[in-house]
Amino acid sequence: MTLNSSEKQILELISFGQGWSRKKIAESLSLTQGTITNVTKNFLEQGLIMEGERVSSGMGRKEVLLYAHPHKFTYMGIDIGGHAVRFSLADNGLELLHTHECLMEELTPEEQRGEALLRKIDEFLALCDADGTAIDAIGIGITGIVDAAQMTVLNMPNAEHWDNLNLVSLLNERYHCPVFLDESGRTMALAEQMAGQARDIGDFIVVQVGYGIAAGIMIDRRLLRGVNNTAGLLGHITADPNGSRCRCGNYGCLENILTFPMLEKDFHGRGGSGRLADAYRLNDKIAIDVCLNAGQALGIALSNVVNLFNPETIYIGGPMFDVMPLLLDETKRTITLRANRFSTLTLQLDRTSFGPRQGIIGALALAKSRLIQTL
Ligand SMILES: [Zn+2]
Repeated sequence: MTLNSSEKQILELISFGQGWSRKKIAESLSLTQGTITNVTKNFLEQGLIMEGERVSSGMGRKEVLLYAHPHKFTYMGIDIGGHAVRFSLADNGLELLHTHECLMEELTPEEQRGEALLRKIDEFLALCDADGTAIDAIGIGITGIVDAAQMTVLNMPNAEHWDNLNLVSLLNERYHCPVFLDESGRTMALAEQMAGQARDIGDFIVVQVGYGIAAGIMIDRRLLRGVNNTAGLLGHITADPNGSRCRCGNYGCLENILTFPMLEKDFHGRGGSGRLADAYRLNDKIAIDVCLNAGQALGIALSNVVNLFNPETIYIGGPMFDVMPLLLDETKRTITLRANRFSTLTLQLDRTSFGPRQGIIGALALAKSRLIQTL
């Protein structure tokens, strides 16, 4: 099948929407009703889309809503973080069929990360009794720097032996389907745009904090990429000029203050005992101070981002904000205090839509959106 650019636009709208009527598609893309009728008829015959419920749009007859056909394509999403690697299979509606997770340290020998990853993928497919040849596209999100053509991992600050690995070719040769790669902050922003709360929002930022920090910046519905694919490296901006050396080579990076291991380290460095989260629950003063300090650091970093990009919403993800809500409160308070008051007039701070699955949904959204472009 070869789709022209209008057909791709129509398929993209339907694929990532929550039900589109033909009339609404025509209005949205400034195309004639006749064109939409013809194109959607072909899509229905090819099984790309399906008709759903009829809804009333005020005057006139009811409109049938169109959806992506869930069984048309199967996607594999792989989310590679510094601490854990997550695998998933999903249908064309991005409903998860199977998921699996392993620790980064299981991908051994370290010197052969690519082969180790292939073995883990095969194990995953065997576990869910899935056929690798039935996958239509693979999306990979990685917390690292990818090259301009998005074929190769150039560097992964939080894990060794990923440098200059051409993941796209490696997986393409094994599974014989299109493979797409991007930095995980960007894939997480795609998840929010295509399947989450940001469907109608043009300017927003997604920030995910766990064992590292990933961020994706969407400007006027387009992902900010930068000339070397490094735009959005929020975790590696300097937050403390006197801070310790980061694995990226810089000193005092935000990641050295605000990640699970660094918060624990700060807590113990200030004389705390036991686990930070347990002490927080008991209202321990040292635990509270650690959260206030980290919330301020993130808030200062994000107030700079707000002044630069004037987003409508910042979506913040990461389990530590559930465990220690003060961290989020202090982040919000600092942004309100420090960012320009006109930039924050309508600024919203919300949690991300998919919790721990943000990266997985992002990798799948990457596979789905880019596959449409190849049809
Ligand atoms: Zn760094």
